[in-house]
Amino acid sequence: MISYEEFVQVQNGRASLYRLVAKIFREPLSQEDIEALAQGGLSGFACGDQRIDHGVHVMARYLAKRNTGTRELLNRDYTLAFYGIQGVDGRMALPYESAFGGEEQRLMGFARGKVYNIFKKQALKLGEGIDLPEDHLSFMCEFMALIAERSCESFKADQMDSVRTYLRLQQEFLKQHILNWYPKLASLAGQIVSERFYRGAMEFAGGFFDLDLQNLNALVAETGASSIAFDLNELELAHPVNTSKRKPKPYPVVDKHACIRKKGAMCMACVSICPEHIDPCADRKKHPQNECTHCGLCIQACPADALTLPEA
Ligand code: SF4
Ligand code: SF4
Repeated sequence: MISYEEFVQVQNGRASLYRLVAKIFREPLSQEDIEALAQGGLSGFACGDQRIDHGVHVMARYLAKRNTGTRELLNRDYTLAFYGIQGVDGRMALPYESAFGGEEQRLMGFARGKVYNIFKKQALKLGEGIDLPEDHLSFMCEFMALIAERSCESFKADQMDSVRTYLRLQQEFLKQHILNWYPKLASLAGQIVSERFYRGAMEFAGGFFDLDLQNLNALVAETGASSIAFDLNELELAHPVNTSKRKPKPYPVVDKHACIRKKGAMCMACVSICPEHIDPCADRKKHPQNECTHCGLCIQACPADALTLPEA
């Protein structure tokens, strides 16, 4: 079994790498960020993995040659790619999971609701001054770093079941909410950015996510976490419908002929306003939803009068 000291070393290393990815993709880099990355020893993150080391090398070389125009060039690249100013074949490299959830790119979709519930159940709040939607890559990376640190606290307190749960949470979250869309983001952004810095950053992050899954798989095996009951789906739904105790209230009914999203428009008024993050238009077999409270907000918000609430 891994010792406490070894565990802390591994988790702190993982947390610092997640925080580096979060920093790079959160917003355009300030001059202070550029100086800190250039002087703070990016090469210290090299670890023997080919993609991580090459990505770090590319970023470090780019910043080593920085001049007075570097910040502007990087800001332009970031804005074009990650604020969605420029697209490829109608698709944009927005760093949100919900932008890669289906054929149409919609923010604030299913993925956002799911990660929101996971964060809420982990009592995670946005830091002051951070207003990223929850399914932004940077916020997800901050979450991974935080859970890695919490697992160290649990280990120190000898709460090994809690350690195992945190490891499974990180393992499943990485698989189901980062690795499921990051390669698509990197592929799209790779066709938009022109500065080598962001190419290096994307290679570094992709290599790190893949390697981190291997590390987490090893930690899960080492600590016996694979034998504990863990279902990420239970964390993704705020109030899962429980039909065994009582009959749930019926969901709003959508008039398919009136709903403008069904006709191809980008309307998400109903989902955005719903306190339970329910999408009345969703296929509930494919996308399980929270329980509807019949608050009626979606009915009022719908611009096409397409929703009605059946009698409870
Ligand atoms: S009635 Fe309220 S809880 Fe139910 S789907 Fe509409 S907004 Fe959500
Ligand atoms: S708000 Fe109305 S029109 Fe828009 S997606 Fe929802 S049901 Fe359709």
